[in-house]
Amino acid sequence: MARKVLALAEIRDGSLRNVSFEAIAAAKIIAQGGEVVSVLAGESVQSYANELFFHGADRVVVVEHPHLTHYTPDGYSQALMAVIDEEKPEGIVFGHTALGKDLSPKLATKLNSGLVSDVVSVEEGGNLIFTRPIYSGKAFEKKIVTDGLIFVTVRPNNIPPLERDESRSGEVKAISADIKDLRTIVKEVVRKTTEGVDLSEAKVIVAGGRGVKSAEGFKPLQELAKVLGGAVGASRGACDAGYCDYSLQIGQTGKVVTPDLYIACGISGAIQHLAGMSNSKVIVAINKDPEANIFKVADYGIVGDLFEVVPLLTEEFKKLKVHS
Ligand code: FAD
Repeated sequence: MARKVLALAEIRDGSLRNVSFEAIAAAKIIAQGGEVVSVLAGESVQSYANELFFHGADRVVVVEHPHLTHYTPDGYSQALMAVIDEEKPEGIVFGHTALGKDLSPKLATKLNSGLVSDVVSVEEGGNLIFTRPIYSGKAFEKKIVTDGLIFVTVRPNNIPPLERDESRSGEVKAISADIKDLRTIVKEVVRKTTEGVDLSEAKVIVAGGRGVKSAEGFKPLQELAKVLGGAVGASRGACDAGYCDYSLQIGQTGKVVTPDLYIACGISGAIQHLAGMSNSKVIVAINKDPEANIFKVADYGIVGDLFEVVPLLTEEFKKLKVHS
């Protein structure tokens, strides 16, 4: 059954987040040959439309308003409701990001709809099957939507975006929204960590635990991450010890990540940490203790001192880069 599906685009620091393209890819599957409409909300955001076409959007709708410069639940829900009223979609896809996690339940309630959140794959078939992790990633459940609107959020880094094709184009439509009665207004956003790759979208993560022993101990990990074009993450043990900022924390009470490569350095592998990274595609663990729990989820284990192993890896990857 062909459907019209909306896919919300997210902009951060002046560029579209990858999850915007992943949402389009998921929307394509849900649309089953129907129309995928990307939604851009913000102030002066129309210029991002082309990139959404290149990644597979059939049409782009734009809601621009000074109150949409920064995300607020009131502002964005009013903007999205205006789009939904006008477009009457049969499906909606958001990223399972901080924004998507906040906005999707609010909208689902307004629309009297169900919500399948944190989806990691969508399978085509008679009924679409949505797979999502449960119990902190220890199991997966498969869901089908039997009736009404198909509203899903997709976990970043799981649904591959369509290949970028600059020959694609389409119609851009502006929708006006009356945005009022905001209970909060964001004046300015000051980021704690500004450098490097966004942790939740990184393809490679080098994470440090209490085994790094100090803030200084993160330096070799930062060097390895730099050579691999990745981001640095941490266990709560490292954050609690004051070696790094809590914005780097991965796990049950931190960020959930699914990079192609996760290198855990001096991390024991507590269940709460595994909840945030065990679905990474390839896991490498470096730990002095051969009995460490992290080796149970690792694809490759290195028993050794991280301060010896990590610089050796960095040197080897540097050589590979020089020769490639
Ligand atoms: P440790 O368990 O102390 O492990 C350090 C490891 O480093 C050891 O395995 C040791 O062998 C190794 N090591 C030491 N020196 C070296 C060296 N030179 N070279 C190589 N290896 C070395 N934790 C999270 O990470 N994320 C969460 O989101 C999270 N949420 C939690 C929520 C709740 C409600 C609770 C109760 C706990 C939570 N925790 C979380 C904490 C979690 O239980 C662990 O305490 C924490 O993950 C341990 O961090 P760690 O592995 O860095 O430290």
